[in-house]
Amino acid sequence: MGRSLVLNASYEPLGTVAARRAVVLVLGDKADCVHPTGFVLHAEHVSVEVPSVVRLRQFVHVPFRRRVAVSRRAVMARDGHRCQYCGAHADSIDHVTPRSKGGGHTWDNVVAACRPCNVRKRDRLLHDSGMRLRRAPVVPHGVIWSIVAGGTVPDEWLRYLGESQLAAAPAAAG
Ligand SMILES: [Zn+2]
Repeated sequence: MGRSLVLNASYEPLGTVAARRAVVLVLGDKADCVHPTGFVLHAEHVSVEVPSVVRLRQFVHVPFRRRVAVSRRAVMARDGHRCQYCGAHADSIDHVTPRSKGGGHTWDNVVAACRPCNVRKRDRLLHDSGMRLRRAPVVPHGVIWSIVAGGTVPDEWLRYLGESQLAAAPAAAG
């Protein structure tokens, strides 16, 4: 069994749990299955559909926003797999201020880039390279990005995660 997406009572995504945990939530009347996976779990006295998406019956207040770790996958998702210098398909990530010049491995300094741009920019500061970013890199917020960065995103989750944001990032589902 894989993982299930957990929605708040408001349908806002909260995160993912092991599918087995989602089954327990449904059996315990804590959550309703919104999308089944198609798999059925046979226990001693019950058979229950394994949920792909569950929605909590009670609204849960989320007190803080998780910070999303900088990873190749998450950067690609944020930048829609587009090179932030030329717009071509990106197959690498680039440190805008090179690490050798003190640039950090941080959201505001890492962008998706195609290999030709990466090679062209080399170990230079943006200003010295004569290249320009199409937009300033930002720190993504919220649980959606944690989920995207965390692994497989089944199609049926997309409508709850905000399809428009993720449509540009098909490889995030890989
Ligand atoms: Zn490029």
